[in-house]
Amino acid sequence: MNWGRLFLRILILVTATAAGEVIGVRLGVSVVGGLLGLSTVATLWALREEWRSRRLIDWLKRDSDAPSPALPGRWGDVAYHAEKALRARERELAAALADHAQFLQAFEATPNGVMLLDAAHHVVWCNRVAADHFGLDPDRDRLQLITNLVRQPLFVDYLLGGEHDEPLLMGSPHHQGSLSIVIRRYAADRLMVLLQDVSAREQADAMRREFVSHVSHEIRTPLTVLSGFVETLQALDLDRSERDRILGLMRQQSQRMQSLVSDLLVLARLEGSPRPPVDRWVDLDGLLSRIEAEVRSVSGGRHHIVFPPPTGLELAGQESELHSAIGNLVLNAVRYTPEGGEIRVEGGTNRDAHALIAVQDSGIGIAREHIPRLTQRFYRVDPSRSRETGGTGLGLAIVKHAIQRHGGELLIDSELGRGSRFSLRLPAARVRRVAPGGDTPALQSSAPLADAPVH
Ligand code: ADP
Repeated sequence: MNWGRLFLRILILVTATAAGEVIGVRLGVSVVGGLLGLSTVATLWALREEWRSRRLIDWLKRDSDAPSPALPGRWGDVAYHAEKALRARERELAAALADHAQFLQAFEATPNGVMLLDAAHHVVWCNRVAADHFGLDPDRDRLQLITNLVRQPLFVDYLLGGEHDEPLLMGSPHHQGSLSIVIRRYAADRLMVLLQDVSAREQADAMRREFVSHVSHEIRTPLTVLSGFVETLQALDLDRSERDRILGLMRQQSQRMQSLVSDLLVLARLEGSPRPPVDRWVDLDGLLSRIEAEVRSVSGGRHHIVFPPPTGLELAGQESELHSAIGNLVLNAVRYTPEGGEIRVEGGTNRDAHALIAVQDSGIGIAREHIPRLTQRFYRVDPSRSRETGGTGLGLAIVKHAIQRHGGELLIDSELGRGSRFSLRLPAARVRRVAPGGDTPALQSSAPLADAPVH
């Protein structure tokens, strides 16, 4: 209570009444004059209060972003407290909005699709990924019925069926590939739809199934032949030469299974082991001379085989993998080159200081359309020739995998009937020269292997 102000008001009232009375006495109506003086002051006060309250209400209604009007007395207090409460509310609202925006940004940042539906299945919000999977426009399609936008019967049945314990697996409505869809209830009757692109997983599963069926087939064939021979040996009393012939064939089949299992183990090791070291150096010349000894023994003098003079190079990596990569190429050259043909191995660096190891043969060659698929597991241009020569169909898959693990690439250049050139190119960081040696001209005619997947 402001006593001074109260006293002043009483004083004004008394003075106004007295002044009214003085004027009233002169006019012979002293009481009326007093009342008139009093009511004039009261009316002026009421008008002033009305004007102040109106300013405050106008500010609250229209202009509350601006500072509150400067009002004296009680109205000033009211304006001050109203503005304080208003600003506190605004700050709380801004913080809540920022939290909400961050929340939506987090949903937006997930690699999976998120969509929120109200109880009647209208789209309340969805992130870009969900919109992309379903072919929606997040702004335009807001508040639309999802069943009008995504009409796939599988999805509609799943949504309306109400049984959402198991995820739904379906083809993506807008893209190729598969989606896994999960629906969760929240806030009593709202739904959250979560979408995950499982195309890669599905593809990997399909490839694994295909691989297992290939392996089973590859193993079943020699096993069937072997068990047939065993039955023959048990059932028939064969003479010695016939017996030896059958045992020879049995030996061939078991060797075929052995090579298959050993190639499968190499592949498994390539997939499961850490990347080859960059600081363990392998002497290329030593490696090439071991491979030369192996390949000369396999060829048995049927081919003219030329290995390079000492390269003086060392390669950084895993010796067993480099051996597999180069060895498979040279053995393939022997297997796919008729007797009397030439096999030439080159080793060195090119102008960009990459290491190049090339295996050139004058063999049967490969038609252009097969080249991009050669490194797929079990892909063979001529399956019977591959099997006859002891092939597993895994050799080039191993080569590509091993060389890619070293940061390099396999290049294939071949012409049907004229021979092939398979080259391995390793990055400069994995090559060092420890002694003088020859350089290999850049492989002008070789193109990088088209994107043949390594399965
Ligand atoms: P395989 O065990 O059948 O030789 P690879 O993966 O080593 O399996 O080779 C895949 C296919 O590529 C072979 O079946 C063969 O048709 C072809 N191929 C590989 N190397 C040569 C080559 N030097 N000359 C001709 N064809 C080749």
